Amino acid sequence: MNPATGASAVLRVGEDGEGLAACVHCGLCLPACPTFEVLREENDSPRGRIYLMRLLVEGRIPALGAFSRHVDRCLGCRACEAVCPAGVRFGMLLERAREDRRRWAGSSPLSRLMLWGLSGGRASRVVYALLRFLRRTGMAAAGASLPGRMGVAFAMLAATAPGARLPEPSGTESSGKLQSYALLEGCVMGGLFREVHTATRLVLSACGYVEHAAPGQGCCGALHAHSGFGAGARKLARRNIDAFERSGAGWLVVNSAGCGAAMKEYPEWLAESPAWRERAKRLASATRDFAELVADAHVRPEAELSLRLAYDAPCHLVYGLGAADAPMRALSLIPGVQVERLPSADRCCGGAGLYALLQPDLAERVLAPKLEEIRSGDYDAVTTGNPGCIMQIGAGLRRARLRVPVAHPAEVLARAYAPPGPPSMAAPKLGPGRP
Ligand code: SF4
Ligand code: SF4
Repeated sequence: MNPATGASAVLRVGEDGEGLAACVHCGLCLPACPTFEVLREENDSPRGRIYLMRLLVEGRIPALGAFSRHVDRCLGCRACEAVCPAGVRFGMLLERAREDRRRWAGSSPLSRLMLWGLSGGRASRVVYALLRFLRRTGMAAAGASLPGRMGVAFAMLAATAPGARLPEPSGTESSGKLQSYALLEGCVMGGLFREVHTATRLVLSACGYVEHAAPGQGCCGALHAHSGFGAGARKLARRNIDAFERSGAGWLVVNSAGCGAAMKEYPEWLAESPAWRERAKRLASATRDFAELVADAHVRPEAELSLRLAYDAPCHLVYGLGAADAPMRALSLIPGVQVERLPSADRCCGGAGLYALLQPDLAERVLAPKLEEIRSGDYDAVTTGNPGCIMQIGAGLRRARLRVPVAHPAEVLARAYAPPGPPSMAAPKLGPGRP
């Protein structure tokens, strides 16, 4: 029994004793933490959050109050993991802490509503159709100037429209090693970024990869895991493992870094069952960001694009998939393209799944330095491979009245690799008006 919370069940964050005990309080992670940088508050640093987790496990604080507040403010970017000399696996601790937080302190109605509406199922089909309507009619762009959370939400939706007006392709070369892959359709990607899927398929096909269908797949579960809905996340993980095993594909390809990082964590999520854990391990080892496959195939398109791009690496590509440079390597294959890494490329943009809507003020403060770099860099476009980052950076640019488009790397690559062909196979238009 937890005397402070009255909880009678085991807290998940304390399940793996070594997880919390590994922290030696050295504080080396503090400079890497975006929320500590903005707030200068020990409880909003990795070390402070770990301390709060320990206090909760020991029954010395309740799940409500300081624990919830500071755990909620964490972006889950995992920048702290990369610099920790003790190997503390903060991402895993955070997901367990959020599961505890939700069970003992509940979750906000807004986060439950967003999960229900965005992460798959019949309701999501209606929600995404409505969102695409708002985008197509220009209502999302018009609403972006509204104050507060509503304006942020509209600006993020407007940012899902393909942003870059890039030159038309002039030709392509399509050869390369033939390999099979199955593409994760996802929830937000399938609902608002269909053109990115089209672009991904075009580019992989031009590089010699063959797609296998994976019917029955669904949302990766990241939104659930990050919001403390662990049981829901594990259910989705098992469903995806079934679907991708049936597909018989060699690679499981993602074009959303957050989804890829979540699928790499499936073995942890399903650790309670040795059989599922083994299957999850096989899936995780086959999971790649699409840009890794493009870069490895090394097929140069003939089309030339005269573009100077700013590249921002999604945290989950850096710290989850370990493939921070893959989009830059792939984009550098295009003749005429100059790609520059933003100075803060490895720093979180503040998007972090549902975070920008749940903590809009803090998310804006985390994003501010990145917007300044883009403003002073005079780039033709920004490119980043995660829907949350596209929406957060795109919304920030729009609200700051900076007219720099944000495109997914697959959309830029498709402009160069897209072969001439029927309209259904042509590269997506990269102007406003995503259907
Ligand atoms: S760097 Fe690692 S060991 Fe040091 S305080 Fe941070 S989490 Fe703890
Ligand atoms: S995950 Fe990111 S925001 Fe959270 S404590 Fe670690 S560095 Fe800070």
